[in-house]
Amino acid sequence: MAAVAAALVVASCGTDTDEPSAAPVTCAEIPNGELIDAQEVSAAPTDIATRPEIASGYRSGMKPVVTGTYAAATANPLATRAACEVLRDGGTAADALVTAQMVLGLVEPQSSGIGGGAFALYYDAASNSVRAFDGRETAPAAATETYLTQISPTDPAPPVPSARASGRSIGVPGVLRMLDMVHGEYGKQTWRDLFTPAITLADSGFEISPRLAGAIAASAPDLKADQEARTYFLTDEGTAKPAGTDLVNPAYAKTLGVLATDGADAMYDGPLAQAIVAEAGSTAGGLTPSLMTVDDLRNYRAVTRDPIVTGYRGRQIVAMPGPSSGGIAVASTLGILENFDLPSMRPTESDGDAEASRDGGRPDPAAVHLITEAERLAYADRDKYVADPDFVPLPGRGVETILDPAYLQARAGLIKPDSSLGEAPAGDLGPVPLGSHPGNEHGTSHITVADRYGNVASMTTTIESAFGSYHMVDGFLLNNQLTDFAAEPRDDDGALLANRVSPGKRPRSSMAPTLVMQPGTDGAPAQVIAALGSPGGSVIIQFVVKTLVGMLDWGLNPQQAVSMIDFGSANTPTSNVGGEHPLVDTADDGAHDPLVRGLRERGEEVSVDEQSSGLSAIMRHDSGWIGGADPRREGAVMGDDATLQ
Ligand code: GLU
Repeated sequence: MAAVAAALVVASCGTDTDEPSAAPVTCAEIPNGELIDAQEVSAAPTDIATRPEIASGYRSGMKPVVTGTYAAATANPLATRAACEVLRDGGTAADALVTAQMVLGLVEPQSSGIGGGAFALYYDAASNSVRAFDGRETAPAAATETYLTQISPTDPAPPVPSARASGRSIGVPGVLRMLDMVHGEYGKQTWRDLFTPAITLADSGFEISPRLAGAIAASAPDLKADQEARTYFLTDEGTAKPAGTDLVNPAYAKTLGVLATDGADAMYDGPLAQAIVAEAGSTAGGLTPSLMTVDDLRNYRAVTRDPIVTGYRGRQIVAMPGPSSGGIAVASTLGILENFDLPSMRPTESDGDAEASRDGGRPDPAAVHLITEAERLAYADRDKYVADPDFVPLPGRGVETILDPAYLQARAGLIKPDSSLGEAPAGDLGPVPLGSHPGNEHGTSHITVADRYGNVASMTTTIESAFGSYHMVDGFLLNNQLTDFAAEPRDDDGALLANRVSPGKRPRSSMAPTLVMQPGTDGAPAQVIAALGSPGGSVIIQFVVKTLVGMLDWGLNPQQAVSMIDFGSANTPTSNVGGEHPLVDTADDGAHDPLVRGLRERGEEVSVDEQSSGLSAIMRHDSGWIGGADPRREGAVMGDDATLQ
């Protein structure tokens, strides 16, 4: 197990919501370090087409948080606190997920909400087993292969104003059905009570955070087009509401009130379902409408799936299966990396309590090169083979074939220490006539929770891009998840794409909620030793791999591993080295930075663009957990007071 850095923050979510507890540190103080201010965030260069969400600075020197028995980590302190209080009051990880999601949908509306979808892994201590829950959006029954590119078979003009901002991107929302299922299996507290914190906050109001302010500013022209979004996010003059503005959302409070009382069914039939369909089908201002119907909502099902379980240096990695490519690509990368001695290549300056160490130290370019090359190979297979398995199964024996250790060893043999594959070929996994779809998914959030009963949940939740499709109804935003499909059914050579649109199909995702288990003596999963995940679109895979290698191979504590420079590569000649990190010298496009230079010397092209991971990770420690939240967003880890155990 990783050594724990000297400086820890002792966590407590307090004994009530107003007064700090007697613990040395209250939850309000835990988010350590400052984000850059809202002005800078608003001015940050954003390219919504290629970047999932705006970058919003870096909080240097964050300390890991140590808890007594339970822990919650989300991308926003208000959501973390609400989840933490559910755990404090005897709730399970399942209960905390429900509360966290409802609060996140209010305070971080750009990233996730009930109008979107999610994947969750849930470790149930009583049965010592993990289940994977799939609440991914589906394409409406009327969707055709050209749904995203043509108004109709008789009108080949593209959707107006774009596939994303039209109704065409909107998938049938899945997160609420999924949470209902998770809560039904593993919840202890009543469904209704879990909505109270979000309802109270929506009615009483909360302050727009710097990150939300930056996101509103970056999307103001698009938010303006939707009546409800305009009134909610913009001033009367049509400018973005700044950080610190009090926002109240009575419409969201009312919606949550109905869902609290009538259950998830109220979202999938009746007035709320009709309102969703009407909003998605809006033609205001010439918008191309969604073809979603109330039947699509009525027919939506969340599903449970078998998680992917693979070995990594004596541990088990438990990952999300298709339709997310995240788990497969993370497991494939690790399976390749297992053939190299990464543990001997620890980052320098990662010991002790200096700021550089807290920020994860300086990774060795030789190690980062192995990781980026392994990722190129993993993405090549992911791009070609992975889609909704209910429509396009994986080749051969499925996960067993694509993650076969002998196959991954052969793939590892393609890696050269001194040169780059640039663009790696997909492996030959049988006669599958498929082209490759790299995809460019983008507004997402991650929740990690461990309760006092030993249950652990890892859930990544999304409305896809920041503010989804910009369609707002009854206080929440509708996703644009269908843009995660390949827009065209075939590649340039005419080969069919596994991730093409079909009615009822789930678009491929990159979300990678992950658990790490220490196997029991009989080889069965015995104990969750870590849980993590991140937003970031297709880059999620790189963020999660970096954090796992940091914790498992390099002995970094979760905060160090999360804080460490974001690096990695999809299957292109370019590797990412996150330029927002204080240990990356971005002057002259990174020409003087040892990591950037080391990668370039090995034939990699390197981008030092800012990365906007939103990782959270917790790792087992004594009876409780050590947790880390991403310095690049506004998240926080909280739990019970370790000093009181
Ligand atoms: N829609 C993306 C996916 O399902 C996630 C977007 C993001 O992380 O920003 O992979």
